[in-house]
Amino acid sequence: MSGSHTGAEQRVVVVGAGIAGLAAAHRLLGRGARVTVLEASERVGGKLLPGEIAGARVDLGAESMLARRPEAVTLAREVGLSDRLQPPATATASLWTRGALRPMPKGHVMGVPSSADALAGVLSDEGLARIGQDAELPRTEVGDDVAVGEYVAARLGREVVDRLVEPLLGGVYAGDAYRISMRSAVPQLFWAARTHTSLTEGVRDIQAKAAATADRQTGPVFMGIEGGVGTLPPAVAASVRARGGEIRTGTPVTELRREPAGGWRVVTGERELRADAVVVAVPAPAAARLLRAEAPGAAAELAGVEYASMALVTLAYRRAETDLPAGSGFLVPPVDGRTIKASTFASRKWGWIDQENPDLMVLRTSVGRHGETEILGRDDAGLVEVSRHDLLAATGLDATPVATRVTRWQDGLPQYPVGHHARVARVREHLAALPGLTVCGAAYDGVGIPACIASAYEAADQIHGEAPHDVRDVTATR
Ligand SMILES: Cc1cc2nc3c(=O)[nH]c(=O)nc-3n(C[C@H](O)[C@H](O)[C@H](O)COP(=O)(O)OP(=O)(O)OC[C@H]3O[C@@H](n4cnc5c(N)ncnc54)[C@H](O)[C@@H]3O)c2cc1C
Repeated sequence: MSGSHTGAEQRVVVVGAGIAGLAAAHRLLGRGARVTVLEASERVGGKLLPGEIAGARVDLGAESMLARRPEAVTLAREVGLSDRLQPPATATASLWTRGALRPMPKGHVMGVPSSADALAGVLSDEGLARIGQDAELPRTEVGDDVAVGEYVAARLGREVVDRLVEPLLGGVYAGDAYRISMRSAVPQLFWAARTHTSLTEGVRDIQAKAAATADRQTGPVFMGIEGGVGTLPPAVAASVRARGGEIRTGTPVTELRREPAGGWRVVTGERELRADAVVVAVPAPAAARLLRAEAPGAAAELAGVEYASMALVTLAYRRAETDLPAGSGFLVPPVDGRTIKASTFASRKWGWIDQENPDLMVLRTSVGRHGETEILGRDDAGLVEVSRHDLLAATGLDATPVATRVTRWQDGLPQYPVGHHARVARVREHLAALPGLTVCGAAYDGVGIPACIASAYEAADQIHGEAPHDVRDVTATR
């Protein structure tokens, strides 16, 4: 940010150019602020990363956006990607459970079924029978929050958690269903649990409400982008720049200090920027470091947020040599002791990958859950080997891939344990005392792309309401 500030235009620094930081910048520019985004790494996008394998464009990070809430799809349209939005070509997925790939049962809320119907094979006979007890059991109190696994196991038995809820939740959070907060991760179940004694009845109620909305809200549940969801951040960045925003990569922020006269001093290595307001859009550990000096209470809370690491293994095969079962891939319940936690048949799931590479079959597997450190200690060849081993066992695929690629996401996903909402509320309480400072991103109100964008808009709107300080905009050398 150079030049001097004369008018009432608000100068805002956004720290972090993941999808949250970019969305915040986009929103602030729309409100007339002057925006500088500072990104530590050499590229924008964070967990969204477009890449390539055997000449095929693919996503090496996040690949799919929930379309039942508007933020991600709307942002993609706003930055010119309307024509490239594409729903999955097939939504049929499987569960690799009890020794076979079985169709993912329909009609569940994050794996919680509305009845035992259609679960034969997925669960044992005892597991199926246990679901019936839900109707007779007395109420299970959930208090202020409860672990998803604990509550669902109490109502429907552990098999439902281990074979249905765990693989679905694990796919989103790379976490452990017996630790993850029901209130933060599956809020609709939490509210159903508060209002219904029977969980299956609560699920039916959620489904009835969803069906009523679906009448009005047609269209796919998920959406991808031709070329990869990883192309969204560069498109947002281009739009930010086109509207006068500045984005500096390779610029880690090391310190945030309040100015005595109001406003903020943002330190990046040898340089400093002055701003009326700062949006901190970095993962919790980095946010904790930046907030330590001026908001030690918030920093202490953020330092306690745990993260799960994971790796994605992308494999490209000659299509003529692969004969995969139908569908877009499968999820794997950890209870069976397999190593991979999911596999996506990317060429099947995304029409653009299929059409651009008719001779290839691109697959990916994911490995690593919260607390699982051994598996990610293996080298890339080791991760490819376990992926191929599990793919062979699940699908019979024994061809040799023409290319493989391992993408490691160290501390990629924040964990939302029981009480997460209260932690986030305490962070915001601490920050409320500091005008012109807000936080957003995956650590707060949801890890999915639309939730990150929503938190960014909230952060941007919050500071937009605040008056700019009359400070000179200096880029100084310390
Ligand atoms: C492997 C994987 C797959 C996923 N798949 C999906 C999916 O299919 N669909 C979905 O909806 N969600 C998915 N998610 C979740 C989602 O992608 C992320 O939660 C989301 O992208 C996080 O965005 P963010 O902007 O909050 O953080 P990040 O993407 O982490 O961005 C934060 C940015 O801040 C920068 N930064 C850090 N410290 C500093 C500093 N001191 N100064 C300046 N910059 C700094 C970082 O370099 C980074 O660029 C996935 C996540 C992972 C890890």
